[in-house]
Amino acid sequence: MVANLVFYQLALIALLGVFLMLSWVWPSEPAAARPIPPTPVPPPRKRSTAPKPFAGLTHTPHCEACAQGVVTRPQAPCPPPPRMVPTRGRPRHVDTSRHFCPHPTCAYRGWVGLGNLSANGHPSGGPWQQLHCTACESYFLETHGTPLHGKRVPTELLVWAVGALAEGLGIRAVARVFEVDPHTVR
Ligand SMILES: [Zn+2]
Repeated sequence: MVANLVFYQLALIALLGVFLMLSWVWPSEPAAARPIPPTPVPPPRKRSTAPKPFAGLTHTPHCEACAQGVVTRPQAPCPPPPRMVPTRGRPRHVDTSRHFCPHPTCAYRGWVGLGNLSANGHPSGGPWQQLHCTACESYFLETHGTPLHGKRVPTELLVWAVGALAEGLGIRAVARVFEVDPHTVR
């Protein structure tokens, strides 16, 4: 019986000790009532005025000239060859000022109206004029480099066929309408 009383007293003292410890550790005021320390507001960032290179567009220069910023300008085209004035033969009546010599080795290739071309008649009685370049002594038809070159069909028919193709008519349909071979239309 005495042991039980001692045990109860010790248990009561232990409970009191636990209560005192809890009251000391437990916060005296609720968390909402406590003042919140102010958090410092960072100052707004200032944008730097110095330009920054875009990473995707930067590249290393290809050569030393590019690194030094030397710009190589394209060279000017060569000056045109001198104009040729015919001194012999009959005066020319056929206008060749809209044609030029197509031969790659000719100095007058690509230049028009320089007097190097002369008409040489219609070979085999054909509809197209043959032109003669007095600079490189070559002959070519006036249809050189055009869709009409080498075609035996009349020009009007070819123009109508091209117009029909441009309007959306098929190749075989154009061949049937104008009574020509589909390979000719193609
Ligand atoms: Zn020529």
